[in-house]
Amino acid sequence: MTLRIDEASLKTIRDHGGREYPSECCGILLGHADGGQKVVREVVPLRNLRHDPQRAEELLPLADPGRESERNRFLIDPREQLRVEKDARARQLDVLGYYHSHPDHPAQPSRYDQEHAWPWYSYVILSVEQGTARDLNSWVLAEDRSHFDRQSVEVDEL
Ligand SMILES: [Zn+2]
Repeated sequence: MTLRIDEASLKTIRDHGGREYPSECCGILLGHADGGQKVVREVVPLRNLRHDPQRAEELLPLADPGRESERNRFLIDPREQLRVEKDARARQLDVLGYYHSHPDHPAQPSRYDQEHAWPWYSYVILSVEQGTARDLNSWVLAEDRSHFDRQSVEVDEL
């Protein structure tokens, strides 16, 4: 399934990644899925809850807090997630997936990403090197959760 996204939405993701560097940014992709493609209508930048270690730890404890932080982990606040989903439904939009950045790492899913992903959804990963947004790839977890498949991304000019 192809992910279609317009240039403005792409810019929102890139700008967010650059702004949050050296931390990971994250957000939600909203739109429609039909006819073998997902069409992004809106991207919603969210706060990386790992900036609030105490609350994040209550929700999803880190396996290795010494090596994990907001610099290599992101967490979306479930309350924010619900708010965005509800608001999207009211406007007939679906959650198509999520995006996050990899500061000074390739735009490929980590093992952690694989363990915390769900099939079907698109996981857009943006590599940010020294504060500059670079490669962007979209990934979909296989139904058996064994691996991610890279998804083609088509950019619509406005
Ligand atoms: Zn990641």
